Amino acid sequence: MDFHWSEEQEMFLSLFRDFAQKEVAPRAEETDHQEKPPMEVLRKAAMQGFLGATLPEEQMGAGLDHVSYGLLIEELAKACLSTALIVAIHNSLVAETILAFGSPEQQETYLPMLAAGEAIGAFALNEADAGADFSRLTTQAVRQDDGYLLRGSKWWVANGEIAGLFIVFAASDPTANGRGLSAFLVEADTPGLKVAHREPTLGLRGLPLNVLYLDDCRVPAANRLGAEGEGYAIAAAALDRFRIALGSAALGISEAALAAGVRFASERKQFDALIAQKQAIQNFIAEAKARIEGLRYLVYHAGWLLDQGADVEEAAALVKLWAGEVARFVTDKMVQVHGGYGYMEEYPIARMYRDARALGLVGGPTELQRVTIARSLFAPLGVEILP
Ligand SMILES: Cc1cc2nc3c(=O)[nH]c(=O)nc-3n(C[C@H](O)[C@H](O)[C@H](O)COP(=O)(O)OP(=O)(O)OC[C@H]3O[C@@H](n4cnc5c(N)ncnc54)[C@H](O)[C@@H]3O)c2cc1C
Repeated sequence: MDFHWSEEQEMFLSLFRDFAQKEVAPRAEETDHQEKPPMEVLRKAAMQGFLGATLPEEQMGAGLDHVSYGLLIEELAKACLSTALIVAIHNSLVAETILAFGSPEQQETYLPMLAAGEAIGAFALNEADAGADFSRLTTQAVRQDDGYLLRGSKWWVANGEIAGLFIVFAASDPTANGRGLSAFLVEADTPGLKVAHREPTLGLRGLPLNVLYLDDCRVPAANRLGAEGEGYAIAAAALDRFRIALGSAALGISEAALAAGVRFASERKQFDALIAQKQAIQNFIAEAKARIEGLRYLVYHAGWLLDQGADVEEAAALVKLWAGEVARFVTDKMVQVHGGYGYMEEYPIARMYRDARALGLVGGPTELQRVTIARSLFAPLGVEILP
């Protein structure tokens, strides 16, 4: 066991931190207030290789290992959670899924494009009536000649309005008891695909969540990702990877919130003393720190497991459960440390509090992570746990 960064990872970390603090942090407030994705930042991120972070060099990627990739998302999230999630969705849900399941032709066509930022990726899985249970999709993939017609609608498609490429999940065999799903690579300008309105959100206002309509959208069979009927397994594997990246994002925003709380408490005086000297405030700070350090080891270990090619379902669920809980706890307590100022938009902690709330929902709600963890503990005893 080695708890040191390699020399290469130290170098990456300083590059990521520099980029996040110089390019992302100064635009975080504007991104939130204007409710617009930071396109200029994304363009610069592509030039640094961050949009093909874990792709191999032959696909024009940066070839990062998953622990280093986690550090990238963590540093971005310290500066702006919306930006971190745009990048994490693009990399973990889209680029890595094509790398894992795409044919050589699909990889050759789409991966260099994604790595260069010529197309931003989006992942269209959930529907109005299919959320945690995404086996029940009503979007249909109807076989026709040498392709499919996609019919239906998707909700909460993050990156929707800025995406050039969508992975769309649809039922190709509605009789297969919820498991007859297939995945498709659909370019944004494909006739029949319409990116519709954006849902107003509590936080993460730089991350657009759009409704997507598929109105007899014709996709050639060559654009099916993986085998017919493999869609459920593809979505599950993509979500495991994404949950680990969300852990990095939770780590970053929690660290930034704690730093803001510590700074504020060391400047604010009440009753003739710094509030840092009040035990109630110290308790908030210490509890936040302990939770963050617990999350850190779960996240770094899960990144390492990914690089070993291990099954990460349980590790990803542990990370995701703790990610949502820690980010919510820390941002809430740091608002309290700020007192009334914490409720003012003038202080970044208000944005962090709104943004962090999403981490218990996006990528699968916390309750379902508990089910996954319980399932893996009861499995050896032969006790079946159903969601
Ligand atoms: C910021 C953000 C970004 C998103 N981005 C995307 C995206 O890019 N692509 C995409 O497809 N989707 C996206 N989503 C959708 C997200 O994945 C879903 O919101 C999430 O999976 C939950 O589904 P749901 O909202 O339908 O809730 P539901 O599944 O209806 O759940 C409602 C509540 O019931 C609980 N529940 C449900 N089943 C069980 C059970 N068996 N046991 C215990 N509790 C249960 C849930 O935990 C939750 O508390 C995004 C959501 C957010 C908030």
